[in-house]
Amino acid sequence: MPTVQYPPHAVEALLADGTTATIRPIGPADHAAVLDLHAERMSEGSRRLRFFGASRRAPQMTADRLCGPQRSELLVLGAWVDGELVGEADCEPVEGRPEAAELALAVADAWQHRGVGTLLIEHLVHAARKRGVQRFEADTLADNLAVHRLFTDLGLPVHRRYEQGEIRVVVPLDEDEEHYQEAVDQRGRAADVASLSALLRPRSVAVVGASRRPGSVGQAVLRKIRQNGFSGKLWAVNPYAQRVAGEAAYPSLASLPGTPDLAVLAVPAEVVAGAAEECGAAGVRALVVLTAGLDADQARLLMHACRRHSIRLVGPNSLGIAQLDPAVRLDAEFGGAAALPGTAGVAVQSGGVGIALLGQLARLGIGVSSFVSLGDKYDVSGNDLLQWWEGDGRTDLALLHLESFGNPRGFSRTARRVTRTLPVLTVDAGRSAAGRRGAASHTAAAATPTVTREALFRQAGITATRSIAELVETAALLHAQPLPGARGAVAVVSNAGGIGILAADACAEAGLSLPVLPAATAAELAGLLPDGAGTSNPVDTTAAVGSRELAQCIDGLTKRREIDALLVAIVPTALGTGPGPLQALLDHPARRGVPVVAVLPDQEAPVRYLTCADGGRLPAYADPAAAARALAHARDRARRLAEPPSPDAVPDTADSAVAQHLAAAFLADHPQGGWLDPKETADLLDCYDLPLTTSIWARGEHDVLLAVRTLGQLGHDGKVVLKAYWPEQVHKSAADAVRTGLRGADEVRAAYRDFEERFGDSMAGVVVQPMAAPGLELLAGVVQDQVFGPLVMLGLGGTATDLLDDRTARLAPLTERDLTTMISELRAAPLLLGRPGTPPVDLAALRRVLAGLSRLATDLPQLAEADLNPLIARPGGLLCVDARVRLEPRPAFDPYLRRLRRPAATAQE
Ligand code: ADP
Ligand code: MG
Repeated sequence: MPTVQYPPHAVEALLADGTTATIRPIGPADHAAVLDLHAERMSEGSRRLRFFGASRRAPQMTADRLCGPQRSELLVLGAWVDGELVGEADCEPVEGRPEAAELALAVADAWQHRGVGTLLIEHLVHAARKRGVQRFEADTLADNLAVHRLFTDLGLPVHRRYEQGEIRVVVPLDEDEEHYQEAVDQRGRAADVASLSALLRPRSVAVVGASRRPGSVGQAVLRKIRQNGFSGKLWAVNPYAQRVAGEAAYPSLASLPGTPDLAVLAVPAEVVAGAAEECGAAGVRALVVLTAGLDADQARLLMHACRRHSIRLVGPNSLGIAQLDPAVRLDAEFGGAAALPGTAGVAVQSGGVGIALLGQLARLGIGVSSFVSLGDKYDVSGNDLLQWWEGDGRTDLALLHLESFGNPRGFSRTARRVTRTLPVLTVDAGRSAAGRRGAASHTAAAATPTVTREALFRQAGITATRSIAELVETAALLHAQPLPGARGAVAVVSNAGGIGILAADACAEAGLSLPVLPAATAAELAGLLPDGAGTSNPVDTTAAVGSRELAQCIDGLTKRREIDALLVAIVPTALGTGPGPLQALLDHPARRGVPVVAVLPDQEAPVRYLTCADGGRLPAYADPAAAARALAHARDRARRLAEPPSPDAVPDTADSAVAQHLAAAFLADHPQGGWLDPKETADLLDCYDLPLTTSIWARGEHDVLLAVRTLGQLGHDGKVVLKAYWPEQVHKSAADAVRTGLRGADEVRAAYRDFEERFGDSMAGVVVQPMAAPGLELLAGVVQDQVFGPLVMLGLGGTATDLLDDRTARLAPLTERDLTTMISELRAAPLLLGRPGTPPVDLAALRRVLAGLSRLATDLPQLAEADLNPLIARPGGLLCVDARVRLEPRPAFDPYLRRLRRPAATAQE
């Protein structure tokens, strides 16, 4: 089996029309391609714009310049589509002004207006910034409209100076980051959505491997597509049959009467990649691979075929997809039931969960806009679908059941944005250690530790439920009722006191509040309701309540400003007057934007919709706890939407370039990664002004005593600390390698000799520090999460770290609001924020440390973990006496650089 080699430093990214391009540096081997691009594939007109004239020697000179002997100051990137060079961008520092670089760009005529130039320049911006270039400069002809548009749309500031038919363009690279990121983001989204249209709005579909064997996957999908009324053309491919399930079958893709937009592959694992290659050659732009069990080589070849031919891929190991938009009506999945058309977008990783979820939604009456079973997620991920739904004009609710999200950083950014327009619900799968084990073996995706998953989902704006049932129950509320006020104050009304009390308990347990009703309201209710009614909250109407009075009671409560939501629990009774309490609820749907849920303890379904007189839908739950949980989720969403967006926390100092340089230098020496030594750690943390105590690194007794003499005066009470150091050491105090509170040469000498005796040659040296004044020992740091990306942590540290387990974490980059909430949500918050008699610690300094760590985490993708423990906090300042940093070799990844993901399963060994 041939193995596919990705050229070094190559990344794939989408052009504006969804075509996949490979971006990589150009080298001497590309001379012929570069010459061909400039000489053959650019018209006379294009060449004039590029070279300011029609010199016949220009293409040759350019190819020689770009591909000649390697000059490290020259940066040249090329864009390839299916092995063909379609564009080139280069920049070279200006003589004597290395912070400025002269920029040039060429795109083949056939590839103009497809985003090649923009994509190349984005990547060139990234590479040039890493080299310290601060601005691009270019001379352009005034009539080169395409290039002027490109500069304008880039999202960076552009300064132009007009000189006799030429325009000197200057693009500063170090300003207005936010605007640029937003522009890059928007282009990325547009390209992503364009690339997904073959998948989600296909006009023609081929089922490859549609077998004659009844009950086979291919045949099942073929039948479903036909039976559920696909609006486009449908073809079956099968080399051994003339007809499959009543459809004419063609022997190969090449023999089809047209080019399908989408192909569904239900062929054995060993021929999947070959079939994908054939599809690509035929012009297919989307694949759904139902086949499971591809080995690593098969996976690589499949990915290679997809990237090369600009194919978006769902699966492998997918149950299929469904697009229920009436204009498409494609049901290409082999689940048991047909989904109802509607407005909920559904994406699942596991096919089994998909079947369960579609079944429950259909029973409830929630229709689906599109459904995708992502399977092993080699390419299309939850991110892609969120972006599709965000702009498809139909979807108003997204339901995800994923064990991991793919590109973690991309996910949280996408989620934060999309959840502002539509609710996104997920099941927090793999919460438990056992569940995570299952998730890892099930999908080869390691999941997150549980500690803070809920908070992290909340931070991303996602509603995370604990089960499929809870997901559906919450969807039922969010889909049919308005959001409650952000306080989440609930009034409970019931016609059976005991049920009302249960409902009140459930609300309190879900974190909702049940405010006491104002005296006037209580009096009003007392006048309305039968004798013996309870008029506080919960309101007990008694079983004898008349329908009209119940309706009036509910109506009155929705008018109260202290009430954000209403939970009405009703048991059927033979008492009272009128059409009955339930009917009263449905007949008078005047809600004034206040959400109402019903609890009907005698109903069979856990949740169902009741239809009101005005056609609105009211979710009715059998269990008050389910109703309360759904209300609490809705309240959380309302809170989030009410919060104004908070700016990113910015540290006072961030020497990003130096930090990146230090990390690169360390990894050059340690290609496998590892822990930084004390000196390297101090240098790195210094880039962000993280307050590390002074240390002296000493070897031998004499040096140690010398160091002590220097540091002694700095120490609290004139004392010092000795720490034995050896590479890769993990926990010093556990090995009894820390001696604190030493005073005087004798004590120091004794401590040092003891180290020598016990650790011998394994000890590389000793770290001498001044003794820090006592304070509150905190821990602050960065960890990498498989699902969410880098997280910044804060907690109680020192010896209390594991004992009290009081910590919190947030997705990086942290916002200003995150800084505040992180500090205040610790159980130990009163110790930090101060209490009567105890002043607060230096909170401004603590915020700076967290902001610095956040920036460190976003600057260095190679940062596997950073741990400041303890960070000793006092009213007068913060001091870290022990810091550890571990780096891992990872490709430098700019979160704002557009590129396609390469899943671990298909990456090069
Ligand atoms: P480790 O975490 O590897 O066990 P530390 O360097 O954190 O080692 O030291 C352990 C404990 O010793 C700290 O939690 C702190 O209480 C105390 N300690 C260490 N260095 C100092 C110092 N310079 N000043 C005051 N106390 C210190
Ligand atoms: Mg420590």
